[in-house]
Amino acid sequence: MEDGSGRDRARGAAAGEGERDSGPAMRRGLMGRCPRCGEGRLFAGFLRVAPRCDACGEDLGEFRAADGPAFATISVVALLLIPILGWSFVVLRPDPLTLSLIVSAAVTVLSLVVLRLTKGMWVGYLWAMDERDRGA
Ligand SMILES: [Zn+2]
Repeated sequence: MEDGSGRDRARGAAAGEGERDSGPAMRRGLMGRCPRCGEGRLFAGFLRVAPRCDACGEDLGEFRAADGPAFATISVVALLLIPILGWSFVVLRPDPLTLSLIVSAAVTVLSLVVLRLTKGMWVGYLWAMDERDRGA
């Protein structure tokens, strides 16, 4: 449902809820937008998911990403930086302290950027699968 009115918000896949396509939902999440309408903001802070979409009223706070985005971020950042680290250590032969400072700064910045992107995608996927927090 993309009426954007916030009316008739049925729980789950009950009556009134259209099919939830994971592709568009993940793209909207990646852009930091509500996976349902694509207009409201997904995040209330840097990484805190907004409790409710300010455009369509979807309960975004019910879709808890937990550890998933952190795992994905570690995987992506490691896959990007390990080859670069190995190449620069062999080819450029930098001072170890210089290399460790550069790598630490790169890991920090890259992790923050990737974490926000993957968390948005993750919440979009959870929304598409209707995987709400059931308090387990
Ligand atoms: Zn919305």
